[in-house]
Amino acid sequence: MKYTAVKGMHDLLPPATAQWVFIESTMREIFGRYGFAEIRTPIVEKMPLFVRSVGQTTDLVEKEMYTFIDQGEEALTLRPEGTAPVVRAYVEHSVHQKDPLAKYYYFGPMFRRERPQKGRYRQFHQIGVELLGAAHPFADAEAIVMLVDFLKTVGLRDVRLEVNSIGCRKCRPRYNADLQHFLQSVAGQLCEDCRRRMVKNPQRVFDCKETRCQQALTDAPTIQDFWCEECSEHFTGVCNALDAQGVQYWINHRIARGLDYYMRTAFEVVTHIQGAQNAICGGGRYDGLVEDLGGPDTAGVGFAIGVERLLMLLEAQEQALPIATAPPIYFALLGEGARRAALPMLAQLRAQRKVVEWDYDGRSLKSQMKRADRLNASHVVIIGDDELGKEEAMVRDMATKEQIAVPFTQLVTHLQGKADAA
Ligand code: AMP
Repeated sequence: MKYTAVKGMHDLLPPATAQWVFIESTMREIFGRYGFAEIRTPIVEKMPLFVRSVGQTTDLVEKEMYTFIDQGEEALTLRPEGTAPVVRAYVEHSVHQKDPLAKYYYFGPMFRRERPQKGRYRQFHQIGVELLGAAHPFADAEAIVMLVDFLKTVGLRDVRLEVNSIGCRKCRPRYNADLQHFLQSVAGQLCEDCRRRMVKNPQRVFDCKETRCQQALTDAPTIQDFWCEECSEHFTGVCNALDAQGVQYWINHRIARGLDYYMRTAFEVVTHIQGAQNAICGGGRYDGLVEDLGGPDTAGVGFAIGVERLLMLLEAQEQALPIATAPPIYFALLGEGARRAALPMLAQLRAQRKVVEWDYDGRSLKSQMKRADRLNASHVVIIGDDELGKEEAMVRDMATKEQIAVPFTQLVTHLQGKADAA
């Protein structure tokens, strides 16, 4: 039996994990500057949470959820997205009673049973943000500004921020009816998926990648002609706040959202580098969701970034990401005696916050030096029989290739000022 990871789910091994650590720590630093704090919710939730929030007729709920019956008792689902769990936690802990404004971010795996391809997986990771309790367009703009700040800080270039308003429960039905009417007139040119969407979730046809569908949609009505006054004012407010903070964006009235709970502001960050899987981030406003999930009438706005896609894009840009740990000091030790003698020095250096590596099994000097090279060691400390007899070590500076003898008693002090702490 050959054991492999589940299709569409991937292992993350070093050194790639260092990039993830960088992304995560940048997230904490940037979001912290805007007063957001981390929230962690369970990976498994009760299935009805997603059916109620994401929407019965969405692809996600209809086809993509990993749901199982727990010991014959209740249906549980591996979370396919982060907003519903966060809102569930917000309501369950009556957060609104303690603070009118809740500002959360999260990082974690999500699960969707999609057809795997480059940039689309069954387990993937999202960085998400939820701002609960603020209805003003300033809140939408703040989320977007913070998103742009984060993407810039990790080094992302060549992306487009696109914004739209998808209307509200008041004005969207009129638009959907008009759009459906139009779609019926071009139904013969649409793919099977779009004909299905046309009935259930007409705005989603704009997401279709099929050329024939895109062509058929050229003259489709767009939402801005149907906005009610509040939606129109809200959208202007968001754009003005973005302008005031120097954020560059494109208005795209064809942005829809795959999940039912969105209203008004919808935004995406897209790239043209990756082909079909070009969305890095999706977000928007969801004012009715807290109430739908049993809480008080509370406004909400948020976004989710796909971490795998972000990293793919950084790689395509050849963006060098900082390495999380400092180069190590490598102890190349020859013989049992040398290794025993080195033990207290290893401990002392680590207590000084140095990164220290050595070979447990006593391989040849050549293979130890090779490993030191591979680990990009700053210094190699060599102790063989000769050195052991003299109670001194040869310290080799790997950058200058200079080598000097240092007595054991002075080794820690000697190295203290040399390599940087991790
Ligand atoms: P959504 O929650 O559908 O709005 O998705 C937000 C972001 O998560 C997208 O812009 C993608 O970057 C990422 N994403 C969504 N689904 C997948 C998937 N199956 N595999 C990888 N990334 C995904």
